[in-house]
Amino acid sequence: EAAVAQVQGLIRDIPDFPKPGIIFKDITPLLGDAEGFRLAVDLLADSIEGPTPEYIVGTESRGFIFGAALAYKLGAGFIPVRKPGKLPSEVHACEYQLEYGTDALEVHRDALHQGARTLIVDDLLATGGTARATGDLLRRLGAEMLGYSFVIELTFLAAREHMTDAPVHSLIQY
Ligand code: 5GP
Repeated sequence: EAAVAQVQGLIRDIPDFPKPGIIFKDITPLLGDAEGFRLAVDLLADSIEGPTPEYIVGTESRGFIFGAALAYKLGAGFIPVRKPGKLPSEVHACEYQLEYGTDALEVHRDALHQGARTLIVDDLLATGGTARATGDLLRRLGAEMLGYSFVIELTFLAAREHMTDAPVHSLIQY
């Protein structure tokens, strides 16, 4: 589709970032392009099937950018999932595996009500560790998980095979 191709044309490869051998998908040209950014958010909104989310959950930090824009467009609330120590009130925390070591994500315990219809949004799905940790947090809050939505999916990492709790959608696949 032409719209998806236009968005894809604004994502660039940065070799050896943040480490040698990694090709980083840089979305900053997309964010800086008024038409492209709006198109990406509109395409995310159009891809939502079924009930309208009451909440969009975005993961620090690029998930905030697309998640907040999508929440505004849908008339939904926005819930930030953050790195440890950033949220000021009581939190649930979830540790997850990185290639070397572990990291953690946190969400406010009172972020949503039981059964709230919730969609997780991030810029990119790689191994799926971030998304699965976010899903774990939402389950602990008692949310109804509508799905996971990404601008970019690195399909060769096969993360979605381990994300069977809710539908996974991506605009662009590599
Ligand atoms: P995962 O946990 O699925 O391995 O990694 C996904 C998370 O790392 C996302 O929050 C995403 O923002 C970030 N990430 C990993 N690789 C890239 C990349 O190549 N480009 C961008 N923009 N984000 C990445």
